[in-house]
Amino acid sequence: MNATRSFEKGVPAASSRRPIPPFDDEHEELRDSIRRFIANELRPHAQQWEDERWFPNEVFEKLAAVGYLGLKYPEDLGGQGGDYIHDAVFTEELAGCGSGGLAAGIGAHIGIATPPVWKFGTDDQKQRFLEPAIRGERIAALGITEPDAGSDVASIKTHAKKVDGGYRVNGSKTFITNGVRADFLVTAVKTGSAGGHQGLSFLILEKEMEGYTVSRKLEKMGWHASDTGELAFQDVFVPDENLLGEENRGFYLIMANFQWERLLMSLGAVGAMGRVIEQTLTFARERKAFGRSISGFQAIRHKIAEMAIKHEAGRDVTYHALRLFCDGQDAVREVTIAKLATQRACFEVADEALQIHGGAGYMKEYEIERAARDARLGPIGGGTDEIMKEILGKQMGL
Ligand SMILES: Cc1cc2nc3c(=O)[nH]c(=O)nc-3n(C[C@H](O)[C@H](O)[C@H](O)COP(=O)(O)OP(=O)(O)OC[C@H]3O[C@@H](n4cnc5c(N)ncnc54)[C@H](O)[C@@H]3O)c2cc1C
Repeated sequence: MNATRSFEKGVPAASSRRPIPPFDDEHEELRDSIRRFIANELRPHAQQWEDERWFPNEVFEKLAAVGYLGLKYPEDLGGQGGDYIHDAVFTEELAGCGSGGLAAGIGAHIGIATPPVWKFGTDDQKQRFLEPAIRGERIAALGITEPDAGSDVASIKTHAKKVDGGYRVNGSKTFITNGVRADFLVTAVKTGSAGGHQGLSFLILEKEMEGYTVSRKLEKMGWHASDTGELAFQDVFVPDENLLGEENRGFYLIMANFQWERLLMSLGAVGAMGRVIEQTLTFARERKAFGRSISGFQAIRHKIAEMAIKHEAGRDVTYHALRLFCDGQDAVREVTIAKLATQRACFEVADEALQIHGGAGYMKEYEIERAARDARLGPIGGGTDEIMKEILGKQMGL
């Protein structure tokens, strides 16, 4: 099969060698199918959904119908019986939809909110939450960030008081992707009186629970198609059977989940950089100034060369981290490097692409301004660049 990815036509030859481990021929076939699906089912609607600041829930049903919501999940739960590498293919290709918000909404559901239910959930929780999520019937969100606690996860204030048969939850969450539409929220709460990391637990809160309110849909710089919610919990009763994992051991769940989230963000950035470079190459060849294509100017060629380096270097460290992660090794250092190497780079690539497009780059119809706005979230979400550098410093014994 021809596994060369279309968006890389014209990019220096190294980037079109496929398959690169951990991907093999089977993954590349999956890549082709996913790319076709995205081109036919998602991309044509991206502009409309960006304008509407919302994509319809049917997107999840469509994705479920072709099995893409359950690629890594076991068949007995309704998944495809694949693994993380299949999900990695999906995530990288999802950038082709052309809307960071759409990719984020889908990614929050399958990439960050449902994996903890799979890893730490009881059979009953898998049946009530994971299986309908794989079928696209119940939409998931992950609620960690609060108005007064983002990077400093351990200082969250949302409190769950133990009562007969469950917990009473009071508090709030903010910046939650899928927060407006989510049917259930995998939520970090304080259960213990011990400070720091000790007293954190996870509860699954359900939209219908009394006292659970979506207080606001937040307006954002980018990711327009996604709904980012602010949520309030007032005396919400959450039954014992919705405790996810062990009480007071939630911090380990967060840390385990972060590795995959950061890898997904890295893969998404690699996909987005490749897409922007492809668009820019096409534009630079076609756009004429002073009697020739602007790609004929050395200044433009050098910009594109630097963009290609950022893309390929980011891709290589990301695939390396993915290989280690999928091999079951401790990949904290490599995942951290991958996230750091790709997020700011993706924004810089999009910004340089915008410059090469000139005035057209500033116009909505070329989609470059959207790519730049969407990419700006990368160095903030899922752990800021500063926090990533702190983690890396610690990994290096500092
Ligand atoms: C569009 C969007 C979607 C999101 N989706 C979700 C979601 O689905 N679920 C969820 O739980 N959260 C979500 N988040 C929240 C996101 O994870 C946080 O915004 C992020 O972790 C940073 O936290 P903060 O915004 O509170 O910034 P802060 O932690 O307040 O940081 C502010 C600044 O201080 C810096 N800083 C903080 N601590 C240190 C330190 N020790 N050393 C050096 N610098 C430091 C930070 O790097 C940053 O520059 C989302 C955010 C956005 C914008």
